[in-house]
Amino acid sequence: MNLADRLRTAAGRFGGRTVLTLDRTGLSYRALDAMSARVGELLRRRGIGRGDRVAIMLPNVPEFAVVYYGALRIGAVVVPLDPLLKRREIAAYLGDCAARLVIAWHACAEAVEAGTAGTCADYLFVVPEEFRRLLRGVPPEDAVVPMAGGETAVILYSAGTTGRAKGIELSHANLDVNAATVARMHALGVDDVVLGALPLYHAFGQTCALNAAVRAGARLTLLPRFEPGRALEVIRRDGVTVFQGVPAMYIALLDQPGVSDLSMLRICVSGGAAMPVDVLRAYETRFGCRIVEGYGLSETSPVSAANRAGAGRRPGSIGRPVRDVRMRVVDERDREVPPGEIGEIVVRGPNVMKGYWNDPEGTAEALRGGWFHTGDLGRVDGDGFFFLVGRRRDVIIRGGYTVYPREVEEVLYEHPAVRQAAVVGVPHPELGEEVAAAVAVRAEVPPDELRAFVKERVAAYKYPRRVWFVDELPTSPTGKVIKRALEPPAAAARPRG
Ligand code: AMP
Repeated sequence: MNLADRLRTAAGRFGGRTVLTLDRTGLSYRALDAMSARVGELLRRRGIGRGDRVAIMLPNVPEFAVVYYGALRIGAVVVPLDPLLKRREIAAYLGDCAARLVIAWHACAEAVEAGTAGTCADYLFVVPEEFRRLLRGVPPEDAVVPMAGGETAVILYSAGTTGRAKGIELSHANLDVNAATVARMHALGVDDVVLGALPLYHAFGQTCALNAAVRAGARLTLLPRFEPGRALEVIRRDGVTVFQGVPAMYIALLDQPGVSDLSMLRICVSGGAAMPVDVLRAYETRFGCRIVEGYGLSETSPVSAANRAGAGRRPGSIGRPVRDVRMRVVDERDREVPPGEIGEIVVRGPNVMKGYWNDPEGTAEALRGGWFHTGDLGRVDGDGFFFLVGRRRDVIIRGGYTVYPREVEEVLYEHPAVRQAAVVGVPHPELGEEVAAAVAVRAEVPPDELRAFVKERVAAYKYPRRVWFVDELPTSPTGKVIKRALEPPAAAARPRG
């Protein structure tokens, strides 16, 4: 089996139907398959074969899919990189995985040229018209190299919010099974139009948008950069039925004036970061469509748990494990804790990565006892719904009391003036850590009012003694608030009892 076989099968079944659109141009299933076959031959002529690493540094453009499937079909390992990376990051990743070639967007040329110096990687820049011409000069490589399910398909570098990136090795079977799960769960079909707003270099976009759409015969309409106004335009113009986004995208859509009916959206999926219940309700009331929240990590291809429609949904919850996946909550000694108790979430299933590239120790630690340790804290209720309380490293210990940021953030989101909120611990001489909140507002509100608002609603040790305002929370391209980048300004410091 090879993930690229899914495209070939789809080309046979869906032939002339459109698989990808960007603005007004489209690509059919047949054309995507044929172009990827030419990429296969192009790579082969450059001496690239099974197991060789090929990095892709492309935004959400059709060429991403062309190169992705082209490299996979000859058995090469795809290393998708964020096109915004700078020289030093590029050099580090390419050096780490010893990539042979980087296929990069023309706008990345300068960074890539500098980043590849001193590595064994060659580069090829994609200017759409020229790239098409180049491919026309290469005969297609029709064969798809058969791979064992466990062989590596991609290496994803996920820095998460810690800054230290690890190469996550996902196999053909990991990705294939997870895409199948998503396609089945959302009943994706030929009449669906999926909005490709999430970056394809990240697991969420790759599996849930690209691979799931391709196997279902759906159409993916790409947005190279998420701008809420543009997204609303494309949703209506193309009749988008499936929207997948991170909470920051939902918040940005809510801020857009005008449009109030998006009932053409059959499903809105949220993942990648916590969806505040108040945002979910406001979005559903305004746009008339439902949000289902899911949960996962790059290490789990990524989907591990999800809410379903109807009774399968609990706002505030990440849902229940998806098909063939098991999840547990464990204590520090890896013993399962009873429902309701907080511990680390561990995952087991066909979606769990092979391991970290070149890091047997990190792999053994993360996969100890046969379970992948997520580093996320949460609890499970009596019906099997999981609730997250935050990353283990984000937990605040205030004078011996544990404060889970998520709980306090949810309360802040209930305040009508609050647009975004992030709760962090800041050093305190006696308490060790003090609770602080960075808030972006839609209307002016005194910090005292926000402090009092939270104080009324949670135990006294949990409310933020410090509140400061930001225009926008620092978020990663995949929707995570970068908490380490948040530091209260000295003037806003108000240590009080
Ligand atoms: P990544 O590996 O970049 O996909 O990031 C995975 C991390 O995103 C997880 O470990 C969680 O901390 C976070 N995450 C994903 N989905 C959710 C969710 N529904 N709610 C809260 N955090 C989430």
